[in-house]
Formats: sequence, C-alpha cells, structure tokens
Amino acid sequence: MRSLTYDQLYIGGRWQEPATGQRISVISPHTEKPIGDTPEAAPEDVDRAVLAARKAFDEGPWPRLPVSERMEKIEKLATVYTANAEEMADLITAEMGSPRSFSRLGQANGALSQMYLTLATAKDFGWVERRQGLFGEVQVRRAPVGVVGAIVPWNVPQVLIMPKMIPALIAGCTVIVKPAPETPLDAMWLAEMLDDLDLPEGVVSILPGGRETGESLVRHPGVDKVAFTGSSATGRHIAAVCGEQLKRVSLELGGKSAAIILDDADIDHTVKHLKMAGLMNNGQACVAQTRILVSETRHDEVVDALADMISRLVVGDPADESTDVGPLVAQRQQQRVQGYIRSGIDEGAKVVVGGPDKPYNRGWYVRPTLFSHATNDMKIAREEIFGPVLTVLRYADEADAIRIANDSDYGLAGSVWTADVAHGLEIAAEIRTGTYGINMYQLDTSAPFGGFKQSGIGREFGPEGLAQYTETQSTVTAGKLP
Ligand code: NAD
Repeated sequence: MRSLTYDQLYIGGRWQEPATGQRISVISPHTEKPIGDTPEAAPEDVDRAVLAARKAFDEGPWPRLPVSERMEKIEKLATVYTANAEEMADLITAEMGSPRSFSRLGQANGALSQMYLTLATAKDFGWVERRQGLFGEVQVRRAPVGVVGAIVPWNVPQVLIMPKMIPALIAGCTVIVKPAPETPLDAMWLAEMLDDLDLPEGVVSILPGGRETGESLVRHPGVDKVAFTGSSATGRHIAAVCGEQLKRVSLELGGKSAAIILDDADIDHTVKHLKMAGLMNNGQACVAQTRILVSETRHDEVVDALADMISRLVVGDPADESTDVGPLVAQRQQQRVQGYIRSGIDEGAKVVVGGPDKPYNRGWYVRPTLFSHATNDMKIAREEIFGPVLTVLRYADEADAIRIANDSDYGLAGSVWTADVAHGLEIAAEIRTGTYGINMYQLDTSAPFGGFKQSGIGREFGPEGLAQYTETQSTVTAGKLP
C-alpha cells in the first residue's frame, strides 16, 4: 500500500515545505477513520505557486515550445497513469466512497481517456490558420490563455482535473490545481506522476485546500483564467470576482436533470439504464437524471419497476466489487440528503422505497430512496440533492413533459426514452440543457460538455474545451504572409 501521508506541497513543479503547519486529514466515509493526510496550502503557498507559474509563462520555455513537444509530455503522463489506474481508482474509493466498479470506469479510466482524447483533439486543432482578410492575408493564432487556476470538487476528482489541466498544458499555459479538501490524496499522487515528467520549473502546482485556498487563487492578480467545477453558489461568487478583474472564467456547475419517459418507451431498458444514469457514484453526479417524468398511462408500471430496481441495490462497503451504492462523502452530506428526504415527506410526496433513517450505524450511508406523488415545485424536484434519491413526476402530455423538464434553474443534462429516436431528437431540441441522451444517458467525453442557465458557462472536452485555454490573435498584413 502506498504511503498516504505527504509532508510537502507541489509548488511550481518542485516539492517544497508548506508555509504553515495546517494539515488536511482525509476520513474514510465507510469506516469514519483517517486514511491519510496532506499539508493544506495557505494563501502564502498560493502566492508562491502563482509567482512561479507567472514567471514560467512570461519568461520560461513552456509556452514557447512547439505543441508537439508539450504533447509528448502528456503522452508520457498517460503511460505512467495507465500503469497505475487501478490503484488510483481504489484510492478514490477510499477517499470519497465511490463504489469500486464506478471508480474503475468512471473515475480512473475516465481520467485516462481524457488524456488520450485531448491529445487526439490537439492533433487536429487549428493552432494557426491562414485566412483571406480585407487587406491581405490574416494569420489567426491560438495563443495560450496564460496562468490557469483550476478548482475542482471531490465527486469525480481526477475526471474533473483532467479536462482543465491537460488542455491547459497542451495549449502552453501554466497551471495551479486546487483539489477539494475531501480528496487531496489522489491529486498529490498525480503530483508525483507529474514530477517524473521533468517539466520546466513553475509549470504545474497542486495545492490542496478549502475555500480560503481557492479564494486566494481566484483573487490573485497573477492568474489569467479560472476554470471551476462545483456548486452554482460558489460558481456565482467566483464569476463575480473574475468579472471585477476581467479574468477569463469557465464554470461547470450543478444540475437537476429530467428523464422524460414517453408512452412508447421500453420500460425494462429505461429502468436498467436509469440505475446508472440516476444513481451513479452514490447519486453524487452533476448529470444525474433525478427527475423522472412519466404520463398517467405508464406511471404505475414505471414506479413499480424503479422500486424493484432500487430495493435490489447492494448498499455497503464501496471497496466491495458487488456494491452498487456506497456511503456519501461526508457526514454533512449524509445529513443534507436525509434533510431533503424529510422535506419531500413534509411537502406531501410519498416514499415508495427508502426513507430518511440511516441503514447502518457506521459510515455516512443513506437509504436509496424513490419518491412518487411529487410535484415540480417541491424542494426535492428543484434543488440538487447529490445523493441516491429519485423523484417521479407525472406529466399530462408531451408539451407538459417538456415544460416540466425546462422548469428548472439548471440546464446541464437530460434524457428522453422512446421507441422513436427521430422524435427523441425533436424533444432534445426543445430542452434547454447542454447535453442530452436518447434511450441512454452517459457522458461522452469526446463531445462538448457544459451547462445552459445556472449550470455553467463554457464547455469542456473536444475542440470547444481546448479552445477555453486559448486566446485568439489575428495578425494582418497587406498582401501575402511568408
Ligand atoms: P463547492 O462549490 O462547495 O466546492 C467546489 C470546489 O470549490 C472545492 O474545491 C472548494 O474547496 C472550492 N471552493 C469553495 N469555496 C470557494 C471560493 N469561495 N473560492 C474558490 N474556491 C472555492 O462544491 P461541492 O459541493 O464540494 O461539489 C459538488 C458540486 O459540484 C455540485 O453542485 C455538483 O453538481 C457540482 N459538479 C459539477 C460538475 C460539472 O461538470 N458541471 C461536475 C461535478 C460536480
């Protein structure tokens, strides 16, 4: 077993003594016992990292290398990562309770595939283009955006670091990553892997910490762009700070996605897929399909099938191969989700399976819960619960289903379940969300991903994601360019 205690911080690509003695202890959500600890980065550490990143960007070789040389470093990282992917998945399971089966596919392999997908995107990206302008030829160049602060939450920690750090590095940016205080250990291990790449000084820093660390990174005048994933509340605050400073910012925020089950849907197929699409990662997924919309015609059939699926879920030790639902990340999250279940009951919805009581005395578990007889104005239908709770809502007709799906502050994801895929596409066009699924919902990390409305600004993945780490520079001349 790897050592899970770190004494130094990875600042500017070098292991350095932290400015203060403050530490973060990671508590297992299953055993409630500590599993490891790291230094917590203080504002002085952020300052050191930004100064190093600034110098590396303004004066160092990294942004001036050919793209292909930066890509070679990422290829090397991907090779090292491949060899350690299983162990990385297990570490994430230990830190935040994601079931082992999900950690393998959705956490470590998800992170790895993003490295390869971004490399493939970078190969075909239009780094420099020639266009015919008004006076002569124009060169349109994609310059790196500068020093990037990347701030991520704990739910899919590596999967959220990669679509920020990898495109930023390939574009020639320098990067400071701030992982969440719940999951600093996987990020520190990533720092060890980065250390083996021999990157020029200042190019990458990994600074575990909480709100204060994040805030000092966002406010630092040496940072050119903030890439943030997290809650809409924090995102709104970060956007305001960046707005004052005219700093570039991209935001991947919360969701409350609706799965519309049309009358012609195959219910077995739908419910089989909603197990993953609604409850993946113990329900701690921004894209979770948590509002299940169904007409009167199929209502009872859908509720029965969902109840049957949920009551069969294996809830327990996330390290166990057969576990479907593990513990929530923290006690405060357990209490928050229990509070939402109580609010659903208080507002008049009916618990079909589950309920607010804890299934075990030890560990931050909640019972996977299904609500029926709910309406879209209830808290359980409006707010992001971030736990294994599904709510069935009835619609009168298709137009009503579309209206309910869109009646949300969020616009991250959604799905439609129908025998008619062409009609599914017509429904997709009516829904105000950044991603959509027809008879499935899975994140396709080769396609642009992000939110409409309060689910975010900007896109990750694909050429759209890479473009977020560039500024466009046009150079004109009279006549032809050499
Ligand atoms: P959060 O907003 O509380 O924290 C996210 C990160 O921001 C953490 O690293 C935290 O330390 C940091 N932070 C907190 N306050 C800050 C501040 N003032 N300045 C700078 N950084 C600050 O989010 P959370 O509740 O831990 O994470 C879950 C949320 O993330 C959910 O809303 C979920 O939907 C969202 N999420 C979105 C996506 C997406 O891609 N759209 C993916 C995963 C999770």
